[in-house]
Amino acid sequence: MRQWWNRLVKAVSLMGLGAAWLDLLLPRGCVACGENWPSSAESSWCDRCLEKIPWIRSPICPHCGRPFHKSPSCGNHLCGDCELARYPFQSARSAALHWGVVRQGIHNLKFGGQLHWIPPLVELLESAWTDEMRKGTDCIVPVPLHVKRLRQRGFNQAALLARALGKAAGIPVRYDVLARSVWTEPQTRLKREERLENVKGAFVVSRPSDVRGKRILLLDDVFTTGSTLCECTRVLKKCGAAQIHALTVSRSLPDWRPPFPSDLDDPQG
Ligand SMILES: [Zn+2]
Ligand SMILES: [Zn+2]
Repeated sequence: MRQWWNRLVKAVSLMGLGAAWLDLLLPRGCVACGENWPSSAESSWCDRCLEKIPWIRSPICPHCGRPFHKSPSCGNHLCGDCELARYPFQSARSAALHWGVVRQGIHNLKFGGQLHWIPPLVELLESAWTDEMRKGTDCIVPVPLHVKRLRQRGFNQAALLARALGKAAGIPVRYDVLARSVWTEPQTRLKREERLENVKGAFVVSRPSDVRGKRILLLDDVFTTGSTLCECTRVLKKCGAAQIHALTVSRSLPDWRPPFPSDLDDPQG
């Protein structure tokens, strides 16, 4: 039980000491449960919480990374969307399903401003970043927020994740090549077709000359219908980008349910 340790960290930070160096002096317990020590010095997660992560594993669609959870014994094969060539990116991968501790972590970062969730989520991104995607990536481009949303939230979670991933991999991050020029309503309740329509024309490439011939890793927190990633890919390719791979922490599948609900408890219900 390491909760007392986290309470001590919290208490000392309330005394007004800087949180950044405090983390170095007083390491936290597992980011998700706060009860156990992380599984290794490089990990933010304890063994128990690592087991709760709904990892995306084979069989998957080799193009968009969609898992085939209903037929676990089949091999990798194209999904229906990719048979219809719906996604213009070279490939996409997500580390885990948008559920349980992963969804909670993304929510805590995005809506709670809990920046200590960046390293654990970057650990997930690194696990999903295949060698093929990593090889020859010229730069990482985070999916941008509209300036109004950026002002409301105070930060772009995709940009923060990209910065940490780029630093770890030694790959430059370009925050300035892509911009969200049109305000769009939150997409949560929209269907796939509505989402595509909603984001159509929402992005512009601010520096086309910096994009031409580049192999880009497009980075976002969640892959839902892929409409945002598709629209970003479309405008980047229009400006001559050589190839786009997409990477997200999680993938939302509306029809997915955990095989053992009690083991994969979803704090959001
Ligand atoms: Zn834990
Ligand atoms: Zn697919």
